Amino acid sequence: MTYKEMYEAALKNLAPMKHSDDFSSGTVSAVIEGANGKYYAGVNLDFSCGLGFCAERSAAAAMVTDGETVIRRVVCVNQSGELWMPCGSCREFISLLSPKNKNTEFLQCLEGEKTVRLSALLPSPWNG
Ligand SMILES: [Zn+2]
Repeated sequence: MTYKEMYEAALKNLAPMKHSDDFSSGTVSAVIEGANGKYYAGVNLDFSCGLGFCAERSAAAAMVTDGETVIRRVVCVNQSGELWMPCGSCREFISLLSPKNKNTEFLQCLEGEKTVRLSALLPSPWNG
């Protein structure tokens, strides 16, 4: 998939839902490409107690379930269709999945396909 196709796939998966007073989901959507060449999708899960699961981690969990830990590319969008950079927890999570993920690219701007690598977003990981 091109970045544009990944972006469109992420938009398609947006599905904001309030399941209960304590649980909502689908306001953020991510599509990731694993080193195995497969694509994985995920949406955010938000709980009233403060627990939650970002779209990037949701997609990465599906990838790990499929036996892959290395992510080539990430596209994440919010419900306005804006590209989102990973939060600190996702940066750490992706970093710890594999040392090779320092090269994971995140789409910053669709126009010109501007990307940033995880190594730039997390320049000094605690584990080296
Ligand atoms: Zn996150």
